[in-house]
Amino acid sequence: MIIEIISTGTELLLGQIVNTNAPYLARRLNELGFDVLFQSTVGDNRERMTQVLSVALARADVIITTGGLGPTQGDITKEVTAALLGRKLYLHEPSLDHIKCFFTRRNLNMSDNNLRQAMIAEGALVLKNSFGLAPGTVVETEKNTVIHLPGPPYEMEGMFEQEVAPYLIQRFGDQGVIFSKTLRSFGLGESALEEEIKDLIKAQNNPTIALLVRGGEITVRITAKASDQQSAQKLIDDMEQKIRSRIDKYVFGINDETQELVTGRLLAAKKLTVALAESCTGGLVTNRLTDIPGSSEYLTGSVVCYSNAAKISAVGVPASTLEEFGAVSSQAAQAMASGIRNLFASDIGIGITGIAGPGGATDDKPVGLVFIALADKKAMQCHQYNFIGDRMAIKQRTANTALSLIRQHINAL
Ligand code: ATP
Repeated sequence: MIIEIISTGTELLLGQIVNTNAPYLARRLNELGFDVLFQSTVGDNRERMTQVLSVALARADVIITTGGLGPTQGDITKEVTAALLGRKLYLHEPSLDHIKCFFTRRNLNMSDNNLRQAMIAEGALVLKNSFGLAPGTVVETEKNTVIHLPGPPYEMEGMFEQEVAPYLIQRFGDQGVIFSKTLRSFGLGESALEEEIKDLIKAQNNPTIALLVRGGEITVRITAKASDQQSAQKLIDDMEQKIRSRIDKYVFGINDETQELVTGRLLAAKKLTVALAESCTGGLVTNRLTDIPGSSEYLTGSVVCYSNAAKISAVGVPASTLEEFGAVSSQAAQAMASGIRNLFASDIGIGITGIAGPGGATDDKPVGLVFIALADKKAMQCHQYNFIGDRMAIKQRTANTALSLIRQHINAL
């Protein structure tokens, strides 16, 4: 069975709002085992909406539209479908009562325009809108099922979960389950990682394997389809084991586990504390660590020491180090790491200095040059990186790398 999602709304085409409805529906439909094979976006224009719907009626069994159920003249989704399918619209009294009730309760006058929202195609099933005014509809023909959902995401999602998902399962049967697991890795580039598991990707069938690059992380998504969750899980476990046997040392977490979460968890488990002196990241690593509730257990404190003066006065970097080697140097990063470690009496001290660009580069110190030092009571390590990208990408990469260094250091203890 083929499903097509049609997002309507001129503001989507103008890039004024981000289309979150289509990904939501696609993800949920996939989780329920339905195949979404097409997605289209069209403005609030009768002619073009007719074209898009006609194409969808020819190539999909189930069409789900979002948007255009409102009271204004631009809201035409139901009218276009009714015209295409040769159905008349009529005033659906229970929906009108629901709308009237909304206005009466708020002591507001209902305008005649709102009657449009209660107009329903003959023979359509009406989907209750518990979160807004416009009802949704399901129009069934011999060949197609056309489902109209409202545009506002919370209304659309509520109606999908309460009305549409049960309807689809009842009408088209249980499609089995599609289950995914994501392995999140850091430290190996996309092509190098792909090389490691090339044969598995080539032979993939069920489960399927997909590589995604996200902010310097490479994630490997394993997706299995099976009759029940247990069988899907077994397929995924087997594939995960094969993949991990090749790249396990780069995998830091699964699914929603971020680097800051996993790093924080490790620090807490080992009862270690960390303090950071951040220059080019402007506190980004600290910010990410503090995104995790309970991070005060292992994060003692941080200093954003951007200027030379701040590096000297706040963290104790010797002025001579900055004069001799510069603020972006291995020596400065190391002095920052040990200085911050002393300042906050933490187990681990991190010093980060670099050139995030676009300005500030010299011949021997290009944009993207970053030093990250890690000090603990036994030793000091410092790494040099040459990151590529714009200012934000370099900051993110530096933060990811710093978190990864903390993790590797703890794992090696
Ligand atoms: P209303 O009853 O509010 O008129 P509607 O069904 O007519 O609802 P639209 O007018 O198309 O829906 O959209 C209403 C609002 O919902 C948009 O201004 C936008 O904020 C949001 N919206 C619509 N479509 C999407 C989408 N695909 N993704 C995210 N938000 C959307």
